[in-house]
Amino acid sequence: MKLILLGPPGAGKGTQAKRLEQRYGIVQISTGDMLRAEVAASTPIGREAKAVMESGALVSDDILVRMLAARLDQPDAANGFILDGFPRTVPQAEALDAMLARKGLKLDAVIELKVDDAALTDRIAGRFTCAKCGTGYHDSFKQPAKPGVCDVCGSTEFVRRADDNRETVGARLAAYHKQTAPIIPHYAKTGILRSVDGMADIDEVARQIDAVLEKAR
Ligand code: AMP
Repeated sequence: MKLILLGPPGAGKGTQAKRLEQRYGIVQISTGDMLRAEVAASTPIGREAKAVMESGALVSDDILVRMLAARLDQPDAANGFILDGFPRTVPQAEALDAMLARKGLKLDAVIELKVDDAALTDRIAGRFTCAKCGTGYHDSFKQPAKPGVCDVCGSTEFVRRADDNRETVGARLAAYHKQTAPIIPHYAKTGILRSVDGMADIDEVARQIDAVLEKAR
């Protein structure tokens, strides 16, 4: 199964991608996570991307396309994948089409998580993740069952993203509407675009995605 999860920051792409990984045995490919790893390791790409990411703007297509092409060549992507955060511009979508065509691969579905902008700032500003296993939590909506302990792996270390603050969210949403939303018609044309209600609770969104994927299979 080869999927794209599409939607603005805070729509729930990462949360749903993690569930899909387990359910279908396919790998989540998050370009945001890949870039954060480059920043943490202070690689040349990370040094170039850091300030751009902190401002809420998008890193260059050139860097992202090369990064994704290398990632899709890794053996764990052979079973299928969920793209989370890529493509984010029309040139990235076109580059992905070409990459998949060269490999003789086809996307099964592009799933758009539809959400109201008004809800996103609160969703993003309160989120944090387990430093060890990456499970996502939220100050208001999803605290660990035992305070300070990850439900999944028991770790007591959590991290917050540098760009998950109220100041940067506006710029990230603006980038989404200006640069990413135009890829929706690109996929609508191919007939594989499906929309689900990203405002529903996590389990309901998961149910809607499963229903879409059952039909796509
Ligand atoms: P995310 O974790 O998907 O919200 O991404 C965090 C930040 O990484 C974004 O605000 C961008 O600065 C950068 N980024 C991630 N994916 C892409 C992409 N496909 N194209 C350009 N920039 C990206």
